[in-house]
Amino acid sequence: MRFLFFSYLCFLCLALHAQSRYTTRQLLNGRFKNDSSYIYSLPFETGKKVFLIQGYETIFSHKGERSLDFKIRKGTTICAARAGVVTAVRQDSDKGGLKPENLADGNYIIIQHNDSSTAWYWHLKKNGVLVQEGDSVQEGQPIGLSGNTGFSAFPHLHFEVQGRDATGNYTRLATRFYTQHGPIYLSPLRFYRTRR
Ligand SMILES: [Zn+2]
Repeated sequence: MRFLFFSYLCFLCLALHAQSRYTTRQLLNGRFKNDSSYIYSLPFETGKKVFLIQGYETIFSHKGERSLDFKIRKGTTICAARAGVVTAVRQDSDKGGLKPENLADGNYIIIQHNDSSTAWYWHLKKNGVLVQEGDSVQEGQPIGLSGNTGFSAFPHLHFEVQGRDATGNYTRLATRFYTQHGPIYLSPLRFYRTRR
């Protein structure tokens, strides 16, 4: 009983968060009405159609995680989803798979935005990074080439945004994107076309 009581208290704390008080399902259904969050560009060249194979909190490898997997051919141009400064890159790996040790094999780019949130672009191909640490990049600028490095079963781009929620906790955030359907939270197992 005491445990239940404390669980309930924690639930109340959670309910005080702004965006995080909404479940992913509610965000996808447009229940988050007063949404002034930044609208990202899909991280691909304008007009490209991409398939979202895993969405926020899907059960295969995003259980409880607000991150996205776009299924794309190896070598697809990745563009910055939002302007910022490149804070870290890696491009020397050519290994990938679903073994635990593959977790350390991923190539990536991290870009910090002006609200101090960061976008993480994962699984890039070997030597597939087109920017350097310290570069300022514009939204839509080509930054890398996709691949299959790291913990990855097939060529795809894993994209996530980390930032602070309304209570200051650093966490993965669900973000809106410009698509052919307007600015929306993406649902898995659908095709989306870039718009910016
Ligand atoms: Zn992923």
